[in-house]
Amino acid sequence: MPTKRIKYPTVVLDTEQLGFHYDTIQCPTCGLVQKARIIDTKPRPTYLHECKACKWIIEGDEWNSVVPV
Ligand SMILES: [Zn+2]
Repeated sequence: MPTKRIKYPTVVLDTEQLGFHYDTIQCPTCGLVQKARIIDTKPRPTYLHECKACKWIIEGDEWNSVVPV
């Protein structure tokens, strides 16, 4: 199981006041297609999701958006 250092945002996000939407992504390590939440932060949205199957943290550069079948 690969390990990965996670950089958390220095500013605590108040997700209650931020909008969000869902995307369907594929995990880069185990291939599971799953729904992930995108938080509509400024200036750009926050892509951060933990894989349901392998617990890999998927960030923006690994965000493999797929079209649900
Ligand atoms: Zn996974």
